[in-house]
Amino acid sequence: MKNYYIAQTYDECVHDNLYLQMNQYELDSNKDIYKQVCILAKRDFAPVVEVYAISARDYRKSWLHKKFRFKEYKCKCTPESVKITYDLYDLMKQEEEEEEKLKGKEKEDK
Ligand SMILES: [Zn+2]
Repeated sequence: MKNYYIAQTYDECVHDNLYLQMNQYELDSNKDIYKQVCILAKRDFAPVVEVYAISARDYRKSWLHKKFRFKEYKCKCTPESVKITYDLYDLMKQEEEEEEKLKGKEKEDK
């Protein structure tokens, strides 16, 4: 007897502390699990898919079989947020440098 497999798709955004359940699908345990998970992730644009196994002997028993992560469906705010942080950092650095220059000039004037 084979176990049953259920796939749960999740939306995830680490910046917003978001981990949202999307859809649940029954998998065909006779077919390649990973292939089925890939198709479901694509359908839901899910960055995370958790696969739960349900015991064929006792359907009340279930456990996390595997957790899949898909980089291609990762929230798009990530690179953008990082970019903003860098831009701000550069701006702060520029301001600091200008301040240093001004201080240098003040010294020269004296
Ligand atoms: Zn995000």
